[in-house]
Amino acid sequence: MAVSTPSLDNNMSSTPAPAPKPLHISAQPVTLQNWYKKINWLNTTLVVLIPLYGLYLTTSTPLTRPTLIWSILYYFMTAFGITGGYHRLWSHRCYSARLPLRLFLAFTGAGAIQGSIRWWSANHRAHHRWTDTMKDPYSVMRGLLFSHIGWMVLNNDPKVKGRTDISDLDSDAIVVFQHKHYGKCLLLAAWVFPMAVAGLGWGDWWGGLVYVGIMRACFVQQATFCVNSLAHWIGEQPFDDRRSPRDHVVTALVTMGEGYHNFHHEFPSDYRNAIIWYQYDPTKWLIYLFSLIPLYPQTYALKTFRSNEIEKGRLQQQQKAIDRKRSTLDWGVSLSQLPVISWDDFRLDASKEGAALVAIAGVIHDVSAFVKEHPGGKTLIKSAIGKDATALFNGGVYEHSNAAHNLLSTMRVGILRVGRRSRFGRGGGYEVGGGQGWEWACGC
Ligand SMILES: [Zn+2]
Ligand SMILES: [Zn+2]
Repeated sequence: MAVSTPSLDNNMSSTPAPAPKPLHISAQPVTLQNWYKKINWLNTTLVVLIPLYGLYLTTSTPLTRPTLIWSILYYFMTAFGITGGYHRLWSHRCYSARLPLRLFLAFTGAGAIQGSIRWWSANHRAHHRWTDTMKDPYSVMRGLLFSHIGWMVLNNDPKVKGRTDISDLDSDAIVVFQHKHYGKCLLLAAWVFPMAVAGLGWGDWWGGLVYVGIMRACFVQQATFCVNSLAHWIGEQPFDDRRSPRDHVVTALVTMGEGYHNFHHEFPSDYRNAIIWYQYDPTKWLIYLFSLIPLYPQTYALKTFRSNEIEKGRLQQQQKAIDRKRSTLDWGVSLSQLPVISWDDFRLDASKEGAALVAIAGVIHDVSAFVKEHPGGKTLIKSAIGKDATALFNGGVYEHSNAAHNLLSTMRVGILRVGRRSRFGRGGGYEVGGGQGWEWACGC
């Protein structure tokens, strides 16, 4: 019996190479066969389809006054569950809260239909950690619509999103419970509770569900989503302009004060988003008011950044703006780029036909185009040609204005080699880009 020895080739063919992993659905081109797989249907139902159905129901559901008032009140309660609870308490630990308030925030936050505290905070910490990159779950760099709602209604590759430490949340019993029973919490806080209040209170069960349940949640969702989209799109950047977050009063108005987002991204552990008293930040006001409750304050250890650090950031931004503006103006040739000329050469050049060279503060200026326009008359300026006119210009005869100093700097053509040079005290704006001026002090 012949014994066959498996050849190397046979071995290779018996262990086929592993098939390449299929691309995640989000990376595949959209086709008629796969489009529905690209959609996160649970999220789409909660943030698009149910609100649209609710909108349709409003056409046949009368809105009574008490239901309207309850809708507005519950809107603010559930919005505060997100801004004061999910965001400033759990995501950023800007302050500490006692059990009754934490229970209230976990309940009303669930009623805003934006996922569990744990899920929301993990995404939000990634958003801060990797702002404007692919690891930012709702990066505005992927489009305004994506940052607003697209990131939620589409199936995204979970491997792309940045990971963050949420161990503190995993040791918070309320967070763990709410995450584990999120479906029941949502049903109760978003729809059953507001409906029951309206039903038991004034007999408007259906209106309670449609307006206080469905439509109110839709408004809270859209308002919160504006923080991820609008607050990274419109407004000012008083503290840092290297990334997208911006401050705008309109965003603040629709988000209970979360619109001062440039400040927030710079100082995320500050319990305030607006730092000036008249800026609209009701979330901050409520957190503060809860700390004033006598005997059993519901909030404590409110964190704020030192105003010294805040003002440094603001000043640096102002400096950047000034530098940008400055670089658009003609300040004359930089001193470091001017040729160095001896006194004798200067005298020789100045004596040539048509030359109008004047030395002031160690710098040679060609004033030929300016002789006729000299406000002090041609004679005076001509008398300075070929001479050191420092004293004439800087006060010995007439102290020229700041504008004259600025204009003079645009006429620079060279630097005198001889003599001693010291730092120039006046008109430090002669140089572009941080160079310094020099004062001629040789007395020759
Ligand atoms: Zn942001
Ligand atoms: Zn934040």
